[in-house]
Amino acid sequence: MDNLPQGDLLQAALRRGRPKLPSYTVAVVESFDAPSNMRRVVLSLPQGSGFDYLPGQAVVMMIPTGEGEFGRRDYTIRTMDRQAGTISVDILKHGETPGPRWALSARPGDRIDIRGPRGRTVFQKDADWHLFTGDETCIPAIAHIAETMPSDAKAFIFLEVEGSDYEVPLESAADLEVRWLHRRGEPAGPSNLMASAIADFSLPAGRGQAYLIGETSNVRRQRHDLIARGLTREQILSEGYWRPGRIGGHDHVDD
Ligand SMILES: Cc1cc2nc3c(=O)[nH]c(=O)nc-3n(C[C@H](O)[C@H](O)[C@H](O)COP(=O)(O)OP(=O)(O)OC[C@H]3O[C@@H](n4cnc5c(N)ncnc54)[C@H](O)[C@@H]3O)c2cc1C
Repeated sequence: MDNLPQGDLLQAALRRGRPKLPSYTVAVVESFDAPSNMRRVVLSLPQGSGFDYLPGQAVVMMIPTGEGEFGRRDYTIRTMDRQAGTISVDILKHGETPGPRWALSARPGDRIDIRGPRGRTVFQKDADWHLFTGDETCIPAIAHIAETMPSDAKAFIFLEVEGSDYEVPLESAADLEVRWLHRRGEPAGPSNLMASAIADFSLPAGRGQAYLIGETSNVRRQRHDLIARGLTREQILSEGYWRPGRIGGHDHVDD
């Protein structure tokens, strides 16, 4: 097992069950606005931390919630610069909530505790085609998986954003078909937008793998639709990243 490449070791650990999450105190290097209404925060890992992850995985950040208290918020690792010993996260500025508030106020040298990496929404190499769906909170995961996918992979990507100004270029060596869905002023959250796009998506021949992330009820609807159309549970990785009224955390969507 120890002779496996690092990525395969991480995949094997994921298959074995919920890994114990290591924790790190990291320092803000810089923060700046990023496309799709995000704030990117670059974080410096402790020297020799040995931190590693698979594209699509997240860290749990202990975000200040006021009066000396902290709350857990999951943010996807958008980039890692191994040379510099940094990772970055893109935090959606969706409102006056602790995550974006912290991202907007983060200054170089600020320290924050993180745990991770965590998450099973990572590239599954044994599929003939891949289907990714999500909203803005999923752009970091989907963009990072896309840019690290092998050139012989075929992927269909559906991303929901407010409008065309919020689209971002997706880099990949793989063959990507990307479709942007626009809310056009409708609030983010439970809606028919992604569910109808996926209902209209004709499943290609061969073994498919779906990665459904985003608002929990939207993820659940797509999952049920794909199962009704013949995908097995093993062919669908799905996770609720947020939902109206929920504070931090994530929802398992495995029914
Ligand atoms: C594995 C994983 C990876 C994630 N990666 C990212 C990422 O890379 N970037 C990112 O921005 N988010 C990401 N998220 C989602 C993020 O963790 C949640 O949106 C989280 O609730 C944000 O914390 P907050 O402090 O802004 O809001 P909270 O204090 O947690 O929530 C307050 C209220 O805000 C509303 N709300 C929360 N999120 C949203 C939203 N996206 N849009 C509209 N309303 C919302 C809800 O009504 C909620 O009750 C990820 C989630 C998971 C589980």
